[in-house]
Amino acid sequence: MGAEQVVARCRELARISEEEGRLTRWFAGPAMARANALVGRWMAEAGMAVRTDAAGNLVGRQPGSDADAGTLLLGSHLDTVRDAGAFDGPLGVIAATECVARLRAEEVSLPFSVDVLGFGDEEGLRFGTAYLGSRAVAGTLDRATLNTADDDGVTVGEALAAFGPGEASRRGERLLGYVELHIEQGPVLEQRDAPVAVVTAIAGATRAEVRFTGRAGHAGTVPMELRRDAACALADFVLAVEVAGRSQPGLVATVGRLAALPGAPNVIPGEAVASLDVRHADDAARNAAVAALRERAAAIAAARGLELAWEERMATPAVAMDPGLSELLAAAVAARGAPDVRLPSGAGHDAVALSELTATAMLFVRCAGGVSHHPDESVDSADVAVALDVLDGFLRRLAER
Ligand SMILES: [Zn+2]
Repeated sequence: MGAEQVVARCRELARISEEEGRLTRWFAGPAMARANALVGRWMAEAGMAVRTDAAGNLVGRQPGSDADAGTLLLGSHLDTVRDAGAFDGPLGVIAATECVARLRAEEVSLPFSVDVLGFGDEEGLRFGTAYLGSRAVAGTLDRATLNTADDDGVTVGEALAAFGPGEASRRGERLLGYVELHIEQGPVLEQRDAPVAVVTAIAGATRAEVRFTGRAGHAGTVPMELRRDAACALADFVLAVEVAGRSQPGLVATVGRLAALPGAPNVIPGEAVASLDVRHADDAARNAAVAALRERAAAIAAARGLELAWEERMATPAVAMDPGLSELLAAAVAARGAPDVRLPSGAGHDAVALSELTATAMLFVRCAGGVSHHPDESVDSADVAVALDVLDGFLRRLAER
């Protein structure tokens, strides 16, 4: 059965790891080579011509019946985080391969070619820089990225050279789009009791470091009214972040790391620092929320006689999914009798990089408890069966368009 085999293959692939006893696969390592060989075998069994491109991405190609009809890209990534689950990434590659196999078994030939891509780096585990594989395909790898080195001093450029000459870029080709099937990595589909969702946009994100500076002092000798305690200001700020995040749908705001300095039980903290992560699928809403939090932090600091330092570390814009491709996905969801759920993605995906190359769309599949980036990550094969039917219906609808 298709869906059960897809799930079993994800679990089989998860045994290929750089580390004993847990799943860890980084870009261009020995485990990635073995993973590409195994998935490449499954692609070949589905009738595809298989190659590895100049960036180490696995590519399975099913030619279309019309040489001028262009190519649709499907896929996701085959690398993982450290101590990963079996489905984040591989599900999208293996499910797309299964769809191609199914079409062949039913002797359906599509006018356009289908390329199933297994990207070699999405998580950025080795070089600390994400989307290397998909950025190479999109033709957006810049020189600074190529010079980034791993812990052993090997640069991205040197690692890529190992795959041979040439370029992985698909720029200039006639592409119909990129469609990625991925686990949701969150609990919303479970809460809505739905197997799949059509993704509306990938949220933009702002990260900042927020630092309050007051005056350290002796915890026993400085009276309360004479203190300038930075940790108390930070506590006010953390709760303000939660209130802001809850104030409007679609906004999430998180303080994931915080520290009071110097960090001794008998010292009033003179300095306190926190990370801030704010995401929304609408850039204006995110920017407004960040600006409001900055004002709030300044007000908290002023009220306590502290200094505030606010340093923005990263800001990435939201990526809208293509309406045309998304409507075809939604039509396939409706035809399968599944509820019409539309969700923004709070996490980044290869589709972010591919959106600079071609129209992109994504389908989320429910995962148990919303758990991801963890060995307990799991999907129900009944949900995967729905996702396979949706992807199959999408391909047939695109062929008719
Ligand atoms: Zn992923």
